[in-house]
Amino acid sequence: MQGHLIYGQEKAQTDLLNFYQSGHLPHAILMLGKEGSGGLALAIAFAQFLLCEQKGALLETCGQCAACLKTKALVHPDLHFTFPSFPPKPGVKTNSRNFITEFREFFARHPYGSVADWLESIGAKDRQSGNISAEECKEMIETLGLKAMEGAYKIQIVWRPEYLGKEGNILLKLIEEPPSNTIFLLVAEQTDSVLETILSRTQLVRLQPMTNEAIQEVLKRIYQVPEQEAAQAAVLAEGNVAHALTILQENESDWLQLIKDWFNGVFTFNGNLVGKWVDQASKLSTVQLKNFLMYAQQLLGHTLRMSMIPGYQAALSAADAQFVSRLAARQFHYQTINEMDRLIGAAVYHVERNANTKVVLLHLSVAMQYALKGTKLSA
Ligand SMILES: [Zn+2]
Repeated sequence: MQGHLIYGQEKAQTDLLNFYQSGHLPHAILMLGKEGSGGLALAIAFAQFLLCEQKGALLETCGQCAACLKTKALVHPDLHFTFPSFPPKPGVKTNSRNFITEFREFFARHPYGSVADWLESIGAKDRQSGNISAEECKEMIETLGLKAMEGAYKIQIVWRPEYLGKEGNILLKLIEEPPSNTIFLLVAEQTDSVLETILSRTQLVRLQPMTNEAIQEVLKRIYQVPEQEAAQAAVLAEGNVAHALTILQENESDWLQLIKDWFNGVFTFNGNLVGKWVDQASKLSTVQLKNFLMYAQQLLGHTLRMSMIPGYQAALSAADAQFVSRLAARQFHYQTINEMDRLIGAAVYHVERNANTKVVLLHLSVAMQYALKGTKLSA
């Protein structure tokens, strides 16, 4: 698996290695881990190891043989994929085959993507519209009944067996007594929604919850997110790489404008603008609002460093960096910025405890105006 390709999943990789080395590789493995912890990436990496023509002893793949190259591009003829989808047009049945090109592109771009991300990328109205059909299960039986084309194994990856529903029962016999050298890799997030009959026929491999460090590594090395942003998003991600990326996108799109509107009202002591901003910001969910306020703290931190450290380069998007340099040009006293940071931190505390957000945000904005004048608003 080329070293730590699957960051933070060393335990699961050891489990898989032990199965392989025991000489009794189970023919159905259920990889269980919460969203954004790398289940699909782990299944594909393990498939690459099984198919690699020059593999090492410790789950290492050569990365260069024909099998590795085909597996990485998800085009190996002995590697089959089933995932939630929907009918692409009326009269066409739900089948992963209809979306395999999109799936390859999606995985290349977003290997930690959630099913919601996936379904959205192919134009689903909502995540409920995803399904794995009975027809597809029947087709799977036919495909896996054929001889392996090139590899020593035929591998069927089922991404999210939760979407199988009762159709999954069609597969029971196949999972229990598969044709020789056929391996099922099922990637699930919760066992409650997987058919009991399927669960009882699989060997469970549990993924670990992702640590902040592992998320940061994935963001930096796989998604090329700059260090600072990766660190910030990892803290807010709740163990979910897909969620970290959503946070980063939200930052990019809406938050900068929202923070500009806010500071504009606060710095000009314009009660009207502040009032409008409070109305707008209080529409965010509690989690979003908390993330937004922490993002504001992050930008203030960069502002402080930029005004105190000559030549300081903030690892931020171009738009954020421009905003920070304009703030730094206002030459705030460092105590003013520290006080604003403390006030925002206190607001995060109250938001987390479900205080009335409008009251919290209004109080915060007024307290920040007092801080700008160098005085304190008594609580
Ligand atoms: Zn190889």
